[in-house]
Amino acid sequence: MPKRPATRTTAAPRTAGAAAQTGLEAPARARNDASLLAKLGIGSKLDLVLHLPLRYEDETSLTPIAQAGEGAAVQIEGEVVACDVAYRPRRQLVVKLADATGVCFMRFLNFYPSQQKALAHGARVRAFGEMRPGFFGGEMVHPRYRVLRGPEPLPEALTPVYPTTAGLSQHALRRMIDEALASADLSDTLPEEMRARLGLAGFAESVRLLHHPEPDTDAGGLRGRTNPAWRRIKFDELLGQQLSMRAHYRARSREAAPSLAPGALTAALRAQLPFRLTRAQERAWQEIERDLGRAHPMHRLLQGDVGSGKTVVAALAVLRAVESGRQAAVMAPTEILAEQHYRKFSQWLGALGVRVAWLTGSQKKAERRKTAAEIAAGAIPVAIGTHALFQEGIGFRDLALAVVDEQHRFGVRQRLALREKGETGGALPHQLMMSATPIPRTLSMSYYADLDVSVIDELPPGRTPVVTKLVADARRDEVIGRIRAECTEGRQAYWVCPLIEESEALELKTAIETHARLSAELAGLSVGLVHGRLPAAEKAAVMDAFAAGRVQVLVATTVIEVGVDVPNASLMVIEHAERFGLAQLHQLRGRIGRGVAESVCILLYQRPLSDGARRRLQIIYETTDGFRIAHEDLMLRGPGEVLGARQSGVPLLRFADLATDEPLLRAARAVADELLERDPSAAARHMQRWMGGRADLLKA
Ligand code: ADP
Ligand code: MG
Repeated sequence: MPKRPATRTTAAPRTAGAAAQTGLEAPARARNDASLLAKLGIGSKLDLVLHLPLRYEDETSLTPIAQAGEGAAVQIEGEVVACDVAYRPRRQLVVKLADATGVCFMRFLNFYPSQQKALAHGARVRAFGEMRPGFFGGEMVHPRYRVLRGPEPLPEALTPVYPTTAGLSQHALRRMIDEALASADLSDTLPEEMRARLGLAGFAESVRLLHHPEPDTDAGGLRGRTNPAWRRIKFDELLGQQLSMRAHYRARSREAAPSLAPGALTAALRAQLPFRLTRAQERAWQEIERDLGRAHPMHRLLQGDVGSGKTVVAALAVLRAVESGRQAAVMAPTEILAEQHYRKFSQWLGALGVRVAWLTGSQKKAERRKTAAEIAAGAIPVAIGTHALFQEGIGFRDLALAVVDEQHRFGVRQRLALREKGETGGALPHQLMMSATPIPRTLSMSYYADLDVSVIDELPPGRTPVVTKLVADARRDEVIGRIRAECTEGRQAYWVCPLIEESEALELKTAIETHARLSAELAGLSVGLVHGRLPAAEKAAVMDAFAAGRVQVLVATTVIEVGVDVPNASLMVIEHAERFGLAQLHQLRGRIGRGVAESVCILLYQRPLSDGARRRLQIIYETTDGFRIAHEDLMLRGPGEVLGARQSGVPLLRFADLATDEPLLRAARAVADELLERDPSAAARHMQRWMGGRADLLKA
């Protein structure tokens, strides 16, 4: 394709005097522009260059009026042969245009007297718009038009249409972008050899093409963002992200951490477990063990589907810290989950004579102070709790490992607090993060590129897969009968109350009412209730009773979503399942199917179903594979939603699409470390171009 300088196409103003009409003096206008640009996330020339068009309009050619088909956007040029104000029924300006082939009309429902004057008989007009059949022939309603003052050449490139914001016209934006294209440093950040090896187009050439493609540019490749120019832009964006994440990764790996050596305790736990670790668990533990042995802080994400057995791997890591004479902390986002861990760890570690402390916000002050003192003195080596663990007044003597469960629920701030708590004598603690819900591979390769990842991709043997049933809520009675039958045979059931996002109070009320109603309907069975507002002690008592089998049916809000582990529960009913998200449904369902009995999950739904709800129910019905569900969730909700709290600290991708650009992501990933190693100044320039000041947000 022949190269033409981009600025050639910008000579002709497109809407006469759009900037002049604002009436602002130049400096005031510049200030105003700056704040409007800020709204679009534009703060520099390069940001302008990277503000890419949404679509294009073809103003490079004229369509004879007689050939302007219906519905298509066309550009015509003609002479005004009539210009009248009509009342039919509203006041409007009707302009009749003629060229050599025929006539048509432009109609304006709002117009200025000055417009009427400019469109006088004999004026030459170039108009762009959609031709539609009108009352007297073809017409354009409110077309974009320009009165020509003399012969004006047609632009040679397509006209870009940019994402913009109220108060900033396309014209003004185009002018600023063209200026930036002409004056910004567009030199390539990729070393030539690397660019050639990857088969990528040049940067300058790519941005110029995308702002001003020639009319013969493949339209599909532009629209679908698959042409070489788009490939280059998307690659660069992905590389920018990889570079900043990998730079942090490398910086961290130069920091100091205690090197933890094997001792008797980890071996003792393994000997004492009633099961053997799965191959996947063994592999994950080996990776963690190797990291912990190094004198640099581990930052590892342990991923695995619900029930894959992440906890025991975390327990081994905790014991590795203890057998090295140091401390470990386990942090969970909810009290129920923290408590569940406390129970499990107390059981496993207690048997080995290792003391475990419990810390939450709901504890009595005196109790907490006493525990805190023992932790600070190093008398208790393991502390488990909610984020209360990292509040003021809690200090460790020698924290070597922090385990963070459900890490995505913690924000950047909490992770920073964790880092500060742990720093002893210039050494940082190792971090093991766990994710209850699998993270799609593309997401972990991109947004989690600053972490190492271990995946447990296998469930312990002997599990019977959960059978999922979709049941309209009109058949609730049958479901009640089913619960009774199950409990009579000695098993237990969960009843999950509807999620009411708008109102926690309403959700609570519904839970209490549901409990009352089920207690009546299931007379003779013991029905318990647990919800987020229950005092911690009561919550613990109910959970205890359910774990011990004294409560047969547990009515719950989504507080049971994560971590709860009662293998004898084999039935779960989720009311108004259509209101839940995919990850939530998968988590909830993961509470059953943990024992030998065949488990059933009944999704009660109410019609009408939205398309999204129907799709979610279909996916959850079709598969129990957490990674597939995570992938579908990403498709339905997009990365911003799926990432949750982490999103607050991470700039989202604008151009690359994780659904379709996995090959580019792999390429960027592969090249990032190489570039940091071989050409740090090119890497720095690339990060500056793509991340600007935002790279700092990743430091946590
Ligand atoms: P999750 O990965 O969802 O946190 P858990 O760690 O809670 O899963 O483990 C789920 C259940 O499986 C627990 O009851 C745990 O004791 C048990 N478990 C873990 N590993 C194994 C194994 N290798 N064989 C049998 N059961 C296991
Ligand atoms: Mg768990």
